[in-house]
Amino acid sequence: MKPRAFKALSWTAAVIVLSCGRVDALAAPTGVQTSPLASSPDEGSWKAGRAMNDIQQLLLFTPRSMGRRGHAQTVHYIEQQLLAAKNTKIEFQQWQAVGDDARRFAMTNIVARLDPANPNRVIVGTHYDSIVTAYADQKDPTAPMPGANNSASGVALLLETVRALGRKPSLQVGVDFVFFDGEEGIRSLGAGDPNWAAVGSPYFASHLRDLYPARLPQSGAIFDMVCFKNLRLHPEPSSLESAHAEVQKFWQIGEQVAPTVFVSDPKQYPISDDHTALIAAGVPSFLVIDFDYAPWFNTTQDTIGKCSSKSLQVVGRTLLRYLHANR
Ligand SMILES: [Zn+2]
Repeated sequence: MKPRAFKALSWTAAVIVLSCGRVDALAAPTGVQTSPLASSPDEGSWKAGRAMNDIQQLLLFTPRSMGRRGHAQTVHYIEQQLLAAKNTKIEFQQWQAVGDDARRFAMTNIVARLDPANPNRVIVGTHYDSIVTAYADQKDPTAPMPGANNSASGVALLLETVRALGRKPSLQVGVDFVFFDGEEGIRSLGAGDPNWAAVGSPYFASHLRDLYPARLPQSGAIFDMVCFKNLRLHPEPSSLESAHAEVQKFWQIGEQVAPTVFVSDPKQYPISDDHTALIAAGVPSFLVIDFDYAPWFNTTQDTIGKCSSKSLQVVGRTLLRYLHANR
């Protein structure tokens, strides 16, 4: 993911430029539109220890970037975990992506469909590819980037949510858990390319009618970098533009679950991630990300020691209550 329009700038420069007031037009989420559940029936089944174990397992496959062995191992791991949960219909979108240098990559988006016959659907997504090298590392920018937070945390969140929902989920909506490939882009596999563009979510967005022949999903919630032990989650501006009511609903629930983690002040700059392609394709979507991950962001230090089971737990609990609040 990238801070939009500031891809070529340093982090510090981006923040300085962005503090010049373009967020004034974006109202903070205010007012109460829904009565979210005080708890959800399945949140006791959401086990942060299992989610932390997912992160640990995924780190064994690093780098999990396109074209690498760890990429195929990650696809296999996600499939095995979904099969073990026995509650979703698993579909694969497979295609080939071609880089500027004509190099070809075998791509796979994984879609786990809960209650597939339900025409009222929501997307819960994350990306599973990781950056190929720790380009932001001061000491060793060519070393592998472990990617505990970016991107194993999102995969762990989705897998554990699938498990917690169990064999007979009591949701009103059908949920498509989408594990996107290629969020880190094809040109440098995420290694700091200023012309970065995601690959997997645009492919998914351009094939929506394959999965949704009658009616598009009513919303999309995308998760990235959600395990940091000092987690702080702010609404993201392009998400507010696209799916204001959903952002309100999610943050309202989040503030009940963990008021120190969910902060209602919006982020001061928009971020491009897998929600971007969904929004462009007409699915109101929002991004849940803690982008304040310096100095470890995309370095060799993005390790499981930066994660906490408590952070994962509060996001998981919020997600379950949010899904129950969808009609
Ligand atoms: Zn990411």
